[in-house]
Amino acid sequence: MSSHNRTQCGGGLALLAGVLGGGAAATLLGGLAYALWPGPDWRTGPLARDLESEIGTRPVAATTTVIEAEARPATVNRIMHVARGDTLMKLILKAGVDRREAHAAITALRTVFDPRELRPGQEIRLGLSAFGSGSSATGQNRAERLLSIGLQPSIERIVRVTRAPDGGFTATEAARDLDHRTVIAEGTIDNNLSSAARAAGLPMPVLAELIAIFSFDVDFQREIRAGDSFEVLYEALYEKDGTPAKPEGILYAALTLSGERLALYNFTPKSGRTDFFDAKGHSVRKTLMRTPIDGARLSSGFGMRRHPILGYSRMHRGIDFAAPRGTPIYAAGDGRIEMAGRNGGYGKYVRIRHNSTYKTAYAHMSRIAKGIRPGKRVRQGQVIGYVGSTGRSTGPHLHYEVMVNGRQVNPLKVKLPSGEKLKGEDLEAFARRRAEIDRLREATRGAGTLMVRAECAGEATDAAVPRSLLTPASGC
Ligand SMILES: [Zn+2]
Repeated sequence: MSSHNRTQCGGGLALLAGVLGGGAAATLLGGLAYALWPGPDWRTGPLARDLESEIGTRPVAATTTVIEAEARPATVNRIMHVARGDTLMKLILKAGVDRREAHAAITALRTVFDPRELRPGQEIRLGLSAFGSGSSATGQNRAERLLSIGLQPSIERIVRVTRAPDGGFTATEAARDLDHRTVIAEGTIDNNLSSAARAAGLPMPVLAELIAIFSFDVDFQREIRAGDSFEVLYEALYEKDGTPAKPEGILYAALTLSGERLALYNFTPKSGRTDFFDAKGHSVRKTLMRTPIDGARLSSGFGMRRHPILGYSRMHRGIDFAAPRGTPIYAAGDGRIEMAGRNGGYGKYVRIRHNSTYKTAYAHMSRIAKGIRPGKRVRQGQVIGYVGSTGRSTGPHLHYEVMVNGRQVNPLKVKLPSGEKLKGEDLEAFARRRAEIDRLREATRGAGTLMVRAECAGEATDAAVPRSLLTPASGC
């Protein structure tokens, strides 16, 4: 990796923004939100199928509420979708259930699920007695009798409230029986990485993660050429019938660019901060980006120069990037906002304190991003503002400063603290992890996917690999 003197950061964000639209890119980079994965194969509503097998009918997803008569005419299953601002109580009342019953059922549900975690769009299935709780068949003022509530807080988990024989409610919670597999995707790039990745079946969230982890070393706009290739080994949950259910994180990713291979391994050191490391155990993450903006042209370097407005020579204590007005500016590293606002000749200005040694500053912004205020924490790559020409400036550009112990240094020359270098026990554990991942790559390559373990199903009876290859079980 050290032989790669690649441009920092920006390109990856730009490429991703191209693929997803800017807002989505930011979301994905923020949390790699798998919920956005839109692929046709990765189903997003397995609750529907689970309950489908339970009642033998297919819910209609396009409508907000559907009433389905079951084989037994006494029960109606009503599917409701949570809208913004809905509470579970509201939804149950909307279904015509008596408030006291709804309250009792929700109280039971609370033992396994916090109803405040409901998300808009989430599906809730209510089992109702078709004749209501009253014996009156006139339909006047009768309340529906609530028999059950079913919902799926995550792809792996189902919770259910059912009416007990004594008339009260009991809540149960079940893990869905999903398989945990590793999947390998490889391809050669003809045109761009995203089309090659799609052709290789790489789910969008995994592509987003791939771009994010390489963005410290690879400028995706300028460095990807036809004939370059990639390999990604990632984990995914699968339905029992072999349908992919949900992609999970990357274990290993490699890019071969102009014949040079960069390979990164996922590893969690004792510190608990999971990251990607090269084969030598050096973290890919740099503390700061040198170029906290996409596709910009360096228009003025660091050092003495004749000032374009003041007319005399003076020290230029940062570097300037010419870019169109409105171009997003990223936080160069994790840190806390120290200043955000007008600052004399700097115009609209943001300064971030990264640690006791490093600060970065960004000047002449047209606008400071929403929520960027002194004291606020920011993550590397987060948009903090937009290019402009406020303050003493002749045209839209970003003036960027890196401060080491309070003094401005040349951002292009300063030796940036690279991320962590593993040592001692961490390095030993990493070597074992690396060997395990390399074995998994080989074992997975033959089949395309490999059963690692049967998720939460007690014994991992389906495991097709020796135990030594198994990734540690989590959450079962
Ligand atoms: Zn400047």
